[in-house]
Amino acid sequence: MSDTYISMNPEMEINKIGFGFLRLPQVEDKEDKKICDWDKINKLVDRYFELGGKYIDTAYTYLDGQSEMAVKKCVVERKPRDSFILSEKLPGYLCKSYEDCEKYFQEELERCGVDYFDVFMLHWLNQKNYAIAEKNDEFRFLREKKEQGLAKRIGFSFHDSAELLDEILTKHPEIDVVLIQVNFLDWDSAGIESGKCYDIVMKHGKKVFVMEPVKGGSLASLPEEAEEYLRGVHPDWTPSDWALRFVQSLPGVELCLSGMNELSHIDANLKKFHPFNEQEKDALFHVRGIIESQTAVPCTGCRYCVSHCPMNIPIPDFFKMYNEKKRYPQDGWKIIPTYRQMTQTCGKASDCIECHSCEQHCPQHIPIAEKILRVKYSFERDLV
Ligand code: SF4
Ligand code: SF4
Repeated sequence: MSDTYISMNPEMEINKIGFGFLRLPQVEDKEDKKICDWDKINKLVDRYFELGGKYIDTAYTYLDGQSEMAVKKCVVERKPRDSFILSEKLPGYLCKSYEDCEKYFQEELERCGVDYFDVFMLHWLNQKNYAIAEKNDEFRFLREKKEQGLAKRIGFSFHDSAELLDEILTKHPEIDVVLIQVNFLDWDSAGIESGKCYDIVMKHGKKVFVMEPVKGGSLASLPEEAEEYLRGVHPDWTPSDWALRFVQSLPGVELCLSGMNELSHIDANLKKFHPFNEQEKDALFHVRGIIESQTAVPCTGCRYCVSHCPMNIPIPDFFKMYNEKKRYPQDGWKIIPTYRQMTQTCGKASDCIECHSCEQHCPQHIPIAEKILRVKYSFERDLV
């Protein structure tokens, strides 16, 4: 891992948690449609501000536009504009031309109820979307918004190889920040390349914003053996504390996004702490092996794949059950009836036609069709 890892002043107390508006609490309306739970979000926002938080992150596509609506209703209309930092993302991959960028930008300002963004990023750059961004001259669009004072800082969120990241930052030194996936489990992962991507952003002297520090919540609960080991180092730290503090201890990380939907999450995450020391870093990397040996599919539950499945297969739900079966094999028999019940109203694993359409939308680069086949063998063997 990077030698710069523990170069922060160990005496200093830090907290870099930003409020990610992707996993906001929702309720069902009279027509059974999911809508944001506005009262609850107000309470979460108030507590976040009381504890010193000031960073809100949203995107055009989050919660079908309700995330931006929550920014407007729960933050912009209730807090002074200079008391928070708002980051927004342009869905450049939906743009057909340069002119489309302006159309989405104006819509985003309107939806959020603001007249500028503190940070404005191209959303979800990977090989395919980067080609679209270059074709539409979307980096020029970012530069112009910065020159006009409508975007204080510019950047992009990224889901691809460290090699491509290096290529983009070399070609676009005007970028201020890069939002990448970093967590201790993916640090050396060949698919995510957290550590390599972090090193590339640092090499180019840009600020690192972090998404998925707890891997979609999957690092909030670890195999008992791993949790016991970590309790031996810090009896009062939860697995989430470990995951979030690891990321925030990285020099160059300005912000660590967390999707908090309970007051207890905010209370726990906003606590200040001393940056990691060597012993803490070693402890976390030690338990990584235990976690990997008991996780069959590294799905974060983001659900980006679900709407792209023509067979209506609830992919992340099946992966969650499959992981549980691997982690607690003695309880595997309990999962089969749940699977049988679920598949009354949705596709079964055996319905997969291996079209691979889901895989193009998976930020974790999971070979979904292959893993769904394993779910089939695991859960449908006994079904008649
Ligand atoms: S490969 Fe299978 S799971 Fe993925 S979209 Fe196609 S049918 Fe659905
Ligand atoms: S399979 Fe991939 S895209 Fe689908 S929920 Fe899991 S991590 Fe997200």
